Amino acid sequence: MDVSRANPEKIPWLPSSLLEGATREPCPRCGRLSLTPWILRRDQERHVWRRWVCIECQFTEERQEDESG
Ligand SMILES: [Zn+2]
Repeated sequence: MDVSRANPEKIPWLPSSLLEGATREPCPRCGRLSLTPWILRRDQERHVWRRWVCIECQFTEERQEDESG
């Protein structure tokens, strides 16, 4: 495995449309109501982060999630 060339983070897949009933928020970049919760990840300290993505301009933002349970 070659880990010497760490790629900058790439987005392998973006949602192309909002799911019906999905949470939507105004995007801080394009201002459209297109920011939607996307993937979860867990960091080394076991905090859970939710990545939000704007399906219009592909702005992404990570927010820490409450971990219950
Ligand atoms: Zn946007």
